[in-house]
Amino acid sequence: MQFKKFPYKFILRITLATLTLALPLWVGSNNSSNQDSAKSLLESSTNEQKLEVLITYSNNLKTKQPHEAIEYGNMAAALALNLNKPDKLAQIQLILSKAFYVIGSYDMALDHLEKAEAFYSSVNDSLGLTEAYQIHGQIYTRVGNFKKALDYTQNAYSIVTHLGNKVRLAEIVRETGNIYFYFGEKAIALDFYQKSLKISEEIKDISGMAKAYNNMGRIYSEMQRFDLALENLKNSLALKNKKEDPIGYANTLLNIGTVKLNRFELDKAKTFFIEANLLFTSVGNQEGMANSLYYLGRSFFEAKKSNQAIATLEEAWELAFQTKSKTLLVNISKSLANVYADRGDFRRAFQFYSEYNTLRDSVFSDEKRKLLVELEARYQIQAKQRQIELLSKEKQLKQSEKTTVRIVIALLISLILLLLSLFYIGYVRFRYKSKANFKLMQEISQRKEAETKLQQYKLQLEHQVEERTRDLQAAKEKAEESDRLKTAFLANMSHEIRTPMNAIVGFSFLLTDPESAEDAKSEYTKIIRNNGEMLMNIINDILDISLIESGQLKTKIREVQVIETINEVVLQFEKEKEKLRKLHIPIFTDFDTVPQTLAINTDRVRLKQILSNLLSNALKFTENGSISVGIRMNDDDELLFYVKDTGIGIAPEKHSLIFERFNKTHDPEQNKFFQGTGLGLAISSELVKTLGGKIWLDSMPGRGSTFYFTLPNFVLQPSKKEKTKTDFSKISEKLSGKTILVAEDVATNYQLIKAFLSSANVELIWAKNGAEAVTIFNNHKNIDIILMDVQMPVMDGLKALQKIRKVDSKIPVIVNTAFFMTDEMEKSYAAGCSDYMTKPIRKEELFLKLSNFLS
Ligand code: ADP
Repeated sequence: MQFKKFPYKFILRITLATLTLALPLWVGSNNSSNQDSAKSLLESSTNEQKLEVLITYSNNLKTKQPHEAIEYGNMAAALALNLNKPDKLAQIQLILSKAFYVIGSYDMALDHLEKAEAFYSSVNDSLGLTEAYQIHGQIYTRVGNFKKALDYTQNAYSIVTHLGNKVRLAEIVRETGNIYFYFGEKAIALDFYQKSLKISEEIKDISGMAKAYNNMGRIYSEMQRFDLALENLKNSLALKNKKEDPIGYANTLLNIGTVKLNRFELDKAKTFFIEANLLFTSVGNQEGMANSLYYLGRSFFEAKKSNQAIATLEEAWELAFQTKSKTLLVNISKSLANVYADRGDFRRAFQFYSEYNTLRDSVFSDEKRKLLVELEARYQIQAKQRQIELLSKEKQLKQSEKTTVRIVIALLISLILLLLSLFYIGYVRFRYKSKANFKLMQEISQRKEAETKLQQYKLQLEHQVEERTRDLQAAKEKAEESDRLKTAFLANMSHEIRTPMNAIVGFSFLLTDPESAEDAKSEYTKIIRNNGEMLMNIINDILDISLIESGQLKTKIREVQVIETINEVVLQFEKEKEKLRKLHIPIFTDFDTVPQTLAINTDRVRLKQILSNLLSNALKFTENGSISVGIRMNDDDELLFYVKDTGIGIAPEKHSLIFERFNKTHDPEQNKFFQGTGLGLAISSELVKTLGGKIWLDSMPGRGSTFYFTLPNFVLQPSKKEKTKTDFSKISEKLSGKTILVAEDVATNYQLIKAFLSSANVELIWAKNGAEAVTIFNNHKNIDIILMDVQMPVMDGLKALQKIRKVDSKIPVIVNTAFFMTDEMEKSYAAGCSDYMTKPIRKEELFLKLSNFLS
């Protein structure tokens, strides 16, 4: 602190550093030549520097060499006064007081202290003032003025508390303890010492802690609690530095020795007392010296060494008397009285007892006792105040704890509320979110579903579009194909129809040509008939296909003699061979594996139509070799028909095509031209399917062809019918004399019937319409049979039939129609016909039908 105000810090530091090095040697040796060298060092410095050096010297020497310290202190005081430095003066006065205190010159110490306090007050140095008050207290304690000691100490205490200097506070508290200790109040003293120790420990002030341990050790020793005393004293000794603080160290040694003395460990005690005494002596501490000698004397006394005891105690008494240590003198006097009494020197013993009493009274006089009471009261008040403080602090603490608890609770509640709110908000948001999410999820899934459906629809649509496109493409192709086929068909048809028509027209003309030879005319007639039949076939095919196309193809299932039917067709083709000039191609039949009377339930007309188509093709496409027609029974309980030829054959890739309409597979440019509409196989295929069978072929070009077809529901039962051959003469005989009513609006048709029946002796009555027919029938009672055309003007055949049936239900009526519709037949039967014939009327059929109704 003192350096702060010094202007020449740098120079001073060098000087001080030099002095600091030199001073211990000088102090330690107590050599005057060193002192002189120090003095000469001071002479070369400025006044300010000199002042600082003197103060440092004085301060460093105050406990170890108090007299020198006083000398330098006085020099410094004079210099500071000259320099008018009150702060330095305060400092110097304090050092001087301490030095006087060490040598036991309490009056001088008090004098300097008062000066120090005045200077410290003038410069407002509170900490310096506190130190002065403390020393004031210590000195008053030593001289037994406890009241003053306590006053000063309390003043120091209040300032230090205000300043918050803990080191100083610990010191003051400990010194307060000292006051009570010297006054004999050990428990109170111990209380203060413990407080002091706590403060020092808090701030880790080693010096303070050492002093507190020492004080506590001394108390425990006084209280006969030696173990505790030794523990505390040893703690103290461990923390103390012998060189730095010889008086403190010596005091602790003294206290340890006292413990040993009380335990009658006399030799050990003496060792401690001697060591302490040496240390006190080394620093000239008279009170310490007196004290250590007192205890050493007591040790001698306890060791029954009364001479040494008396010598030591009297030396102690002298020193204590010099320092006016009354409390110590009380003890020494008492000890000396005891020693002399023990030796039997009662005069000296009485002398010291008297001394002891006087001194004790002066120290513990009535006035002092009153003071003690007052002090006790003050202590109690102080203690209570502390208690109150503690309580209020505790209360405050509790209050604050309560407040803290309340705050914490409030905070916790707030936190819980906040958390609850957050949780609630979170929950609501979560619910909202989850609701929203749920809705969203629903929406998403709905959308996804919709998307999937849409995708499906799209795919379906695409598929449909593809299908439709395919269908359309197919339809387009089909339309194109059918267009192509129709064009081909028309071209073909025109050719197919024109060819026979040319022949018919041409040869009909020749027949009526007068220039034509008579014998050639029968040949012409033949040609006309053949071409007429060819034309008829073409028309039939076209009609059949149109029936199939319109789904109106109907069948009449009856029991059919299979072999007979095949033979009929074969017979027909034997004649055909002639026309085609293919008599060199035999037609073989093969019925060996089936019974001759084999009959199945099927449509006889359609079966013959299928066989005719196949045989017609076989003959058409075969130039050499043979044709075979046969039946077999296959594993599926079906009847298998086949027509085999050795003709040109068909390429496998065209096998499926030939069953299509208007398909002619043989290229006219590669092969010769074959007549045909390209409808035969298409019709046959449809007919087989309608009758419940299948049709296929086996063929290779150049190796001939075999067409197969099956028909179901055959019955293996022999036919009762005998095979009959048409015998025209026999029928003619039967017809002879009969009257036949022919209802026909077309004259040529009537002429044809008339020509067929010219060989028979029949009377024909021609009715040109239905109405005429009815009138004629009603007027001619001898009519045997009626041939009724359906399509006629005025009244059609079926109406006329119905009218006739009303008057005659038995008269045979054979309906004769150009219509090919099957339901025409049904309608005819419904109107009451007896039989049915389709145009063109063939002679054989006409004769057979008529003969059926004639007996
Ligand atoms: P078309 O009236 O032209 O004979 P089809 O439908 O009966 O009509 O026959 C179709 C085509 O099948 C014929 O044009 C011919 O090319 C072929 N075809 C049919 N049968 C035979 C066969 N037995 N041998 C060779 N080719 C045949």
